[in-house]
Amino acid sequence: TALLEIRDLHASVGDTPILKGINLTINAGEIHAIMGPNGSGKSTMSYVLSGRNGYEVTSGDVLMNGVSMLEMEPDERARAGMFLAFQYPVELPGVGGMSFLRAAVNARRIEAGEDEVDQLEFVKMVRAKAKILGINDEMLKRAVNVGFSGGEKKRYEILQMALLEPMMAVLDETDSGLDVDALKIVSEGVNLLRDPARSMLVITHYQRLLDYIVPDYVHILAGGKIRKSGDKSLALEVEEQGYAGIDDAA
Ligand code: ADP
Ligand code: MG
Ligand code: MG
Repeated sequence: TALLEIRDLHASVGDTPILKGINLTINAGEIHAIMGPNGSGKSTMSYVLSGRNGYEVTSGDVLMNGVSMLEMEPDERARAGMFLAFQYPVELPGVGGMSFLRAAVNARRIEAGEDEVDQLEFVKMVRAKAKILGINDEMLKRAVNVGFSGGEKKRYEILQMALLEPMMAVLDETDSGLDVDALKIVSEGVNLLRDPARSMLVITHYQRLLDYIVPDYVHILAGGKIRKSGDKSLALEVEEQGYAGIDDAA
C-alpha cells in the first residue's frame, strides 16, 4: 500500500470548487514536489489534507496506509503521522516554546503507549535539533511564533517536524520569505529527516527550493488539477518556460 494516496479529490471553499480531481500516490521514502502558479490550489490541497474547517471534500478520498482520513479530525490525522508546515504559521501568544514542543511530543508518545519524555533529556534533544536549524535558546524561550520573522517561523516549523518525526510531512511554501542562507538551513533540516519510512510532499512556487530538497517526482498543479508529472527535470523546465505552457484548461 502507498503511504499516501489521493484519489480523484474534489474540494470546495464555500461554494467555490478549488480542487478538481487530484490523483497522487506517494510511497514510503519518496519526496514529491508540487509546483504551480499562485492561486492554483496548492495551499488548499495542504489544508484539505490537514482537515481544516471550511475546506469541504465534495468527492474522492485521501488514504494514509490504506485508511481513509476524511472522517478524521486534524489532531487524529496528526497522531496518525501526518505533519503540515503551513505557508502562514500561527502565532501562539502566551504559549512558551519549550512547553509547546514538549506537549506535542508527549501527546504523541502517550498515544503510542510510551512514557512522557524526561524533562532534561527533552531540553537536550530540542537544543541539539534547534542548533542545526539556527534556533537559539532565546528564541526557544519566547512564545510560539510571536514576533518571529518569516524565516524564523519556517525554521521553527521544521524543528517541530524534527521532534515529531512524522510519517508523512507536507511543507507548504516553506521557502517563501527565505533568503538563500535561510533556505539552505531549512533544507538541511528537512534533508536530515529523509528516511525510507517517511514521505514528504514539498509545495513550492519556485524551482530554487528543489535544488536543495531534491524530489523524486515533480507535479505541476494548475486550476485545481495536476497537469503534468515528471522527475526533477520538470522543475527546471518550468523554471525556464514559466507556467504559461502548462495547459490549465479543464
Ligand atoms: P496557492 O496556494 O496555489 O496560491 P490557494 O490554494 O491559496 O492557491 O488558492 C486557490 C484558489 O482558492 C484561489 O483562487 C483562491 O482565491 C481561492 N481561495 C483560497 N482560500 C479561499 C477562501 N478561504 N475563500 C475563498 N476562496 C479561497
Ligand atoms: Mg499563494
Ligand atoms: Mg499557497
